[in-house]
Amino acid sequence: MKTIGMIGGMSPESTMTYYKIINDEIKERLGGFHSAKILLYSVDFSEIEVCQSKGMWDETAKILGDIAIKLEQAGADFILICTNTMHKVADQVQDMIHIPLLHIAEATAKELVKNDIQKVALLGTKYTMQQDFYKDKLIQAGLSVIIPEETEMQFINEVIFQELCKGIISEKSKQEYLVIIKGLQEKGAQAVILGCTEIGMLIQKEDTELPVFDTAVIHANHAVELALV
Ligand code: GLU
Repeated sequence: MKTIGMIGGMSPESTMTYYKIINDEIKERLGGFHSAKILLYSVDFSEIEVCQSKGMWDETAKILGDIAIKLEQAGADFILICTNTMHKVADQVQDMIHIPLLHIAEATAKELVKNDIQKVALLGTKYTMQQDFYKDKLIQAGLSVIIPEETEMQFINEVIFQELCKGIISEKSKQEYLVIIKGLQEKGAQAVILGCTEIGMLIQKEDTELPVFDTAVIHANHAVELALV
């Protein structure tokens, strides 16, 4: 079994999801007392969030790149950045190490294509929805991507940072998210990407008739696949 290097803490809420899914999946596949070999470096999310809000992306690339180097030196066989947003600097981080970085949007795109989805709605932080770094990976895979209206994006982003990243689950926010998802379905989306690793804490697949692609789950499962190759 390979050793998974995880850069987590963005936020800690979703890193717990990754840790649980990866270990559950390894146990399921290998049985007995098997569990995942994981090196986890969990950041202080406040330092990252400050850089994000000030647009200091090169600073974040340096922080995450230095961590990736440490994980490589400690014996990680490949790296996961356990958040969608910070894939904005995935290429810079990859350039600093000699082991592969398993890209969350590439893993998600593969799942969508496998399920014959052509047009997909993307929910995530404002950075993930508005900027091109994430959508480009989906478009390169042949998908067409739709995002919510401006005010809806502000609301989604607010809930991620003010509630989900702090472990707060609100029924009111959930209902608002579902209204937004319904609107995107009416615009032709055949599926919705939970393109922020905390949204799965709020929205589950039973909540909507639209197929749900939870990036934390997909990324964690792809990591298990790679760990067992
Ligand atoms: N975990 C979130 C994501 O998947 C948001 C936190 C962050 O800004 O990194 O994008």
